[in-house]
Amino acid sequence: MSGVKLTNVRKSFGGHDVIRDVSLEVPKGDFGVFVGPSGCGKSTLLRMIAGLEETSGGKIEIGGRNVTAVEPAQRGVAMVFQSYALYPHLSVAENMGFSLRLSRAPRAEREEKVREAARILQLTDHLDKKPSALSGGQRQRVAIGRAIVREPDVFLFDEPLSNLDAELRVQMRLELTRLHRQIGATMIYVTHDQVEAMTLADDIFVLKGGHVMQSGRPLSLYDDPDNRFVAGFIGSPA
Ligand code: ADP
Ligand code: MG
Repeated sequence: MSGVKLTNVRKSFGGHDVIRDVSLEVPKGDFGVFVGPSGCGKSTLLRMIAGLEETSGGKIEIGGRNVTAVEPAQRGVAMVFQSYALYPHLSVAENMGFSLRLSRAPRAEREEKVREAARILQLTDHLDKKPSALSGGQRQRVAIGRAIVREPDVFLFDEPLSNLDAELRVQMRLELTRLHRQIGATMIYVTHDQVEAMTLADDIFVLKGGHVMQSGRPLSLYDDPDNRFVAGFIGSPA
């Protein structure tokens, strides 16, 4: 069963091809990582999967359903961004539950989802605090919590750790791995950081110039790169 499948996906901005014929598949429940240098099209690809950007061609399927023309809210995806602007005047619990206010779920049910997300993210003791009282890592966890409460089939992460310091990044990587094991949802994670890609991924997709250069299990890319770009990119430490 496929989690996310792209077939011949393209994107151009004003005649400039940014994504060129990308076909790939992240199996259901896997942790897929798109890795590549700045400007190679990682965010554009993720935004097309989320439905925040239209494709210029090709097909996007989620859970076997063609969602190419489906609006973002109906795709069963939730995205976590690099800049995780939280509402400063709302508590942690209110920030996490905010998107659920639009759903018709009863209040008790919404509160239970927030409590469950807080438990997974070890934020239970911080639910009544304002974001300003939290550390950077805790704030990033609240941003992830906002995605968890929506119970998406697919989590999309766009460089969520790049604003954190090195020590915290290592810690959050472990937490993301734990989160993935615990929730079991399909996750797609975008980064320019090779170490992050190698440690997080079940499947890696190395991008360059809007094209997938090579994909596979992290160790198989490391041991058997198809070309110099992949060898240099995956082989050399960040
Ligand atoms: P990455 O996330 O890998 O750094 P992006 O997907 O953000 O790369 O961008 C890929 C290319 O597409 C870049 O050259 C960027 O300038 C261009 N691009 C991205 N979004 C737009 C847009 N809305 N309009 C025009 N060009 C864009
Ligand atoms: Mg980007």
